[in-house]
Amino acid sequence: MALREVLQFPDPRLKRVSLPIPEVTDAIRELARDMIEVMYDEPGIGLAAPQVGEAVRLFVIDTEWSDEEVGRNPVVVINPEISDRQGRITWEEGCLSVPDYNATVERDARITLRGTDLDGKPIVEHAEGLRAVCIQHEVDHLDGILFIDRISRLKRSLYVKKRKKQLAEESG
Ligand code: ZN
Repeated sequence: MALREVLQFPDPRLKRVSLPIPEVTDAIRELARDMIEVMYDEPGIGLAAPQVGEAVRLFVIDTEWSDEEVGRNPVVVINPEISDRQGRITWEEGCLSVPDYNATVERDARITLRGTDLDGKPIVEHAEGLRAVCIQHEVDHLDGILFIDRISRLKRSLYVKKRKKQLAEESG
């Protein structure tokens, strides 16, 4: 079966605020499985449901899988909440939905992530560094926010211009 397509900026579906998941259905389990496949295929270290066109509060993450000794350890998080935000950190970010672009973003350095897994069991994770950055990036997607919404207006407008030109060339 073909992999789900990752939506790319400026697709308006990336700007929607996703809805909480009241119950883990077979469709949600299937979505999570598909998203894990897409994440490793792209490849990426995180993927949020709106990036494959589903406006529900779910993301998948695996920040260390490219390290062969660590291997694959995908975590599916449903209805994530971030609390206990401490300190600030800057990190160079990219996104599967924002092609050919990276920029430095400032975020909270240490956070606590809460949510549930596919079996409805609670998840509590204290994260810092790349892991904290990635979690905040994915939760942003669920609120319709891209990392380019967190950079300077000038940088963002330069990227938007570049992207429009790129799209015009692709379609022309
Ligand atoms: Zn992203």
